[in-house]
Amino acid sequence: MPGILSTSVAYAGSCWQIFFCPLLFFLLSGAVNARQPLEIAKDCKSEYVIVIPRKATPVVQYAAQELQHFVAEISGVRLAITPEGELLKRPAFFLGSTEKSIRYLETAKLKRLTNDGLLIKTIGNDVVLTGDGGRGQLYSVYELLERYWGVRFLTRDCTVVPKQQRLTLPEIDYHYSPPFPYRETSYFDSHPQQIAARQRLNGNAQQCDHTVGGKFQFYPWVHSFYAVVSNEKYFDEHPEFFSLVDGKRNRYSQLCLTNRDMHRVAIARVLGWLKEKPQVAVVDVSQREGGRFCECAPCQELVDQEGEYAPILHFVNKVADAVAEKHPDKWISTLGYNYMPPKTLRPRSNVIIRLTHAGCYIHGATSCSLHGGGAQLFLDSFAAWQKITRNLYIWHYTTNFAHYLAPRRNLNGLPHDLRYYAQHGVDFGVFVQGNSQSRGGELAELRQYLAAKLLWDPTLDANKIREDFCRGYYGPAAESVMEVLRLMDRATGNKDTHLWASPAPRETVSPSYLEEMLKVLGRAQDEAKEQPYLNRVEKLLIPYWYVQLFDPDYYHLGVTDIRKIVTQFERVVAANGITHRREQPIGHLSQWISELKQKYGIPVE
Ligand SMILES: [Zn+2]
Ligand SMILES: [Zn+2]
Repeated sequence: MPGILSTSVAYAGSCWQIFFCPLLFFLLSGAVNARQPLEIAKDCKSEYVIVIPRKATPVVQYAAQELQHFVAEISGVRLAITPEGELLKRPAFFLGSTEKSIRYLETAKLKRLTNDGLLIKTIGNDVVLTGDGGRGQLYSVYELLERYWGVRFLTRDCTVVPKQQRLTLPEIDYHYSPPFPYRETSYFDSHPQQIAARQRLNGNAQQCDHTVGGKFQFYPWVHSFYAVVSNEKYFDEHPEFFSLVDGKRNRYSQLCLTNRDMHRVAIARVLGWLKEKPQVAVVDVSQREGGRFCECAPCQELVDQEGEYAPILHFVNKVADAVAEKHPDKWISTLGYNYMPPKTLRPRSNVIIRLTHAGCYIHGATSCSLHGGGAQLFLDSFAAWQKITRNLYIWHYTTNFAHYLAPRRNLNGLPHDLRYYAQHGVDFGVFVQGNSQSRGGELAELRQYLAAKLLWDPTLDANKIREDFCRGYYGPAAESVMEVLRLMDRATGNKDTHLWASPAPRETVSPSYLEEMLKVLGRAQDEAKEQPYLNRVEKLLIPYWYVQLFDPDYYHLGVTDIRKIVTQFERVVAANGITHRREQPIGHLSQWISELKQKYGIPVE
């Protein structure tokens, strides 16, 4: 509109003139109005509609329904969903790849959105919501709901939705791309599709299909050498495919990683999987858990020249080359554990190296004062790999794998480490491994929420996330629960205190600490008063009941005390569908409770 522009320029020289220019006055007052909040809904009425592209993908349709659902929850008004192109005389949310959002992105010259990144932009009275791919488009809705209207997707069964009689939006010009394309936790309740999408998790454990933009599906998940080249199928005919150990080919070892015939079998197998399972994004080709490596002359020569990791990478690169030719969009992952990279051999550009966060787990890898036995081995390996590839994946442990239910005072470690990974070249992503077999691990709900939030944006304030969670999830008991978390922090703030993968429960809870914790949790129970808050606080008691039942003598418990605790423990565990107490061997909780009842003379119903 050149006429308007030239008019405004003509009058721009003098404030006095501007004041008396009717056209400019109109323009400026328009600008002022644009800065007023947009009124989305008031008194259960709204002018707004949700506009989606004429050929909307399933994920945009899902996103539109989510927006519709939550606007209704917040304001009491259900917005219509309509395809773009119909004559609109109403303001709208333009969702997904609408012509309006495409036009805006063309003119705005923004840095490209990546890694499921998203954009929210108000244009006049309209709101453009879009993102990188299907997931980014869906997440733009969740960002809007969380950032501007206070919605919180805390757990599978707890969403905070603040009601508003008058629902507004400020002028918005927001876009963000997260540092990690892949964001996974394995907490049991992070698996279902709805909460996974709402928490923006997109890993293998998440049950996310194309309706929410899919996920990074791995196949196999890990330790896959025998899935790639089966010892059952090949050992008798081709023992040379397997490790030479003490002069003999070994059926239960690793693979002979320099054997070219074995490479051909492996490549055929991997290409077959990719043909059969087009939804797979990452094929894993990684060493078995246990089993010795090959001592044949070619394998040894490679080790001597390039270091102990060289045969593995040599083999993985062969598979990666074949995959790159036919499936340039697919990845090959392999375990790097805490190995140092080979001297000169480099991973192909489609190879993901999975490093494992090992050592002390309590306070963040770089805050540990132990060397060698602490996180140093991991940090040294990480630093070396980071110099030669950006396709790094961190396998990050958070739980006590031998005692899912025991207290684990490492809440502060996660934000510290995720920030470190993001700042130091982890360009693929992070897997936060929690208790996956059952709900109910210590603080599992909070840990899942905290991990999801920080995987999306590691710069967020972890204490603010914790507080948000406590206020929404524990309601009237929130202050006391936050005190519980502070007690955990205090106990582990010391960089000279260390904690390993699977400590005995008593190592993490002294009798005096237990006493202090039970006092605060008792207060939280009184404050919670009613459901669902009371049950949620009782779940916080499970870890402290568990340590006492596991080691009653250490905590000076008499039989009467034990019986009382077993009864409470059994009730809360049953009410919450908690079935496992450890990872391996499969730790069925019901059996353990039966044994306790038998031992302490409690009648078994
Ligand atoms: Zn060999
Ligand atoms: Zn430490």
